[in-house]
Amino acid sequence: MNEFSHRIAVDWHKTLEQVLELAGKAQGKGVLVFDLDSTVFDNRPRQARILREYGAQRNLPALTKCQGFHFTNGWDLKAACVALGMSAEEAESIFRDLKNFWGARFFTSSYCREDIEVVGAPRYLNACVKTGARVVYVTGRQEDMRAGSIEAMARCGMPLPGGQVGLLMKPTLRENDDAYKRVAHQLLEELGAVIAAFDNEPTHVNDYASRFPDSFAVHLATDHSGRPVTLADRVISIPHFAW
Ligand SMILES: [Mg+2]
Repeated sequence: MNEFSHRIAVDWHKTLEQVLELAGKAQGKGVLVFDLDSTVFDNRPRQARILREYGAQRNLPALTKCQGFHFTNGWDLKAACVALGMSAEEAESIFRDLKNFWGARFFTSSYCREDIEVVGAPRYLNACVKTGARVVYVTGRQEDMRAGSIEAMARCGMPLPGGQVGLLMKPTLRENDDAYKRVAHQLLEELGAVIAAFDNEPTHVNDYASRFPDSFAVHLATDHSGRPVTLADRVISIPHFAW
């Protein structure tokens, strides 16, 4: 939950039902799009492992106790250090080194294996597949994270790429996420009629909303990059997938 939580309607779960209904009516011609990080996957266990390893390597015992719940402000490493008992000054003093350590691990196949599901995501994704629609994961993760991503999907019981399920990834880590997702729009259009797109990042969900005006553009109010972007009016916010 985050600062967008106030946008979540009391009957938010109806959107999930409507999407399934429309996907069923489209008789195999519909496309349902899902981002990975902070949309169907909760990355906090991955974050916590990195912080624990950093603590062990730099002899900072407080950090070796890190668990997912210490990430109190999205991906904010400093906030996690403070939640583990460091002063703000201490957290600031190690930040550059920690960020480098994090950067060398976070975007890798072996660490993304740690991810767990956002509540309800596996059940919902499987219900989507059952409608006959194409289910396409569109992620800012790069191709060399494919093996770890699929392993985490399998562990969580999510539909795996193959047949009617696709996984679109950036070619390399260097590509810009925003630009890549716009490239993906073209590929999605070729696959069929986009019925719904789910993403936690305001920029991305706004882009889906404008590119596919007849679709449901669904925002996961989990966490996001922190860029000051306002969600488009027609974007629907949901907290998770447990409907
Ligand atoms: Mg995301």
